[in-house]
Amino acid sequence: MNDRTFLAHAAVNPSEHHGFINPAIYRGSTAAFPNVAALAGGKQPYRYGRWGNPTSTALCDALSALEGATGTLLCPSGLTACTTAILAVCGSGDHLLVPDNVYGPVRHFCDTAARRMDIETTYYDPRVGAAIAELFQPNTRAIFLESPGSGTFEIQDVPAIAAVAHQRDICVLMDNSWATPLFLKPLELDVDISIMAATKYIGGHSDVMLGTIACGPRAWEQVRDMHFQLGQFVGPDDVTLVLRGFRTLDVRLQRHQESALTMACWLEQRPEVSRVFYPPLPSHPDHALWRRDFRGASGLLSFVTRNSSSEAVAAMIDGLKLFTIGYSWGGFESLVLPVNPRSIRTATQWTETGHLIRLHIGLEDVDDLIADLEEGFSRFRDISGH
Ligand SMILES: *Cc1c(COP(=O)(O)O)cnc(C)c1O
Repeated sequence: MNDRTFLAHAAVNPSEHHGFINPAIYRGSTAAFPNVAALAGGKQPYRYGRWGNPTSTALCDALSALEGATGTLLCPSGLTACTTAILAVCGSGDHLLVPDNVYGPVRHFCDTAARRMDIETTYYDPRVGAAIAELFQPNTRAIFLESPGSGTFEIQDVPAIAAVAHQRDICVLMDNSWATPLFLKPLELDVDISIMAATKYIGGHSDVMLGTIACGPRAWEQVRDMHFQLGQFVGPDDVTLVLRGFRTLDVRLQRHQESALTMACWLEQRPEVSRVFYPPLPSHPDHALWRRDFRGASGLLSFVTRNSSSEAVAAMIDGLKLFTIGYSWGGFESLVLPVNPRSIRTATQWTETGHLIRLHIGLEDVDDLIADLEEGFSRFRDISGH
């Protein structure tokens, strides 16, 4: 089946829901057993609220179909999905490899909570490829990937990294929030654990937070057990919102992609802009890798301003009418955020001298978005004087 068919049909079982297409919102802690034998038998599918209900099963099954996963687990946020997966595969005395451009709060977790548990992290250049093997230690247990990085858009050579990792029985985890399994399927590239902030594109409407962990056969039991022990649970209302987003992921991503490419090409022509970071652009340093592994691109990109003062950048951003200043992305609306990779990197250096600005290109008409930015650049020029 094609992915679009999965989006429309995976985990749609009307006969299990009194004929309705979607599952009910099952709220519940206690699940009743008919007798002592059923309690002892362990066969009843739903035994207690925290262990799932028909609403959460529908989302997990739908995601497993799209990811090609043995099983999928739901977490209250994308961040808990990342930390739960790391804790599932690393313990005291283990060594973890994490890309230098990783999502900031994951880095904070590695540097504090994980370190306190005696899990040692080495940050690596995301463009390292198979040479990551040179960073292996006898106790290296896992490699975390995030591709592309969500501010700077380096693309990682996922198959090359997975190949050397598996020679040493090292587990490979990947944060795939940007591409979603529509545009890249980590498990197909031999990643063991595919993680997403469903808060972003799967939810798609800026009204819910949720994280997903889809596991291949090698990792499934281990991750399920840790998820269970930590007591992770997502309420059925949030699950329902994400399942609704799942059904329309393809049409939304197509529009995000089309508009983001138009925007990226327009930005590249602007005199106020020195670089645009969007993997589908032929000028992107990892364009060839993106073409090889990805089936598309989502709506998040960034650009560097030329010869700019902070005041000029603030004047440009503050006056925007259609771009909201804010964290996150993946919703229907456009967002803008100044980002500074310089201060947090340790394995690589960020050498761009201008200001880095991240855009999420929403579902608005792209000509309106371009007009908004064009006015922004005119405010920028008024202050920077060129
Ligand atoms: C937002 C984000 C997360 C965290 O998701 P939350 O739902 O906000 O916790 C993780 N990874 C990436 C790449 C993200 O952009």
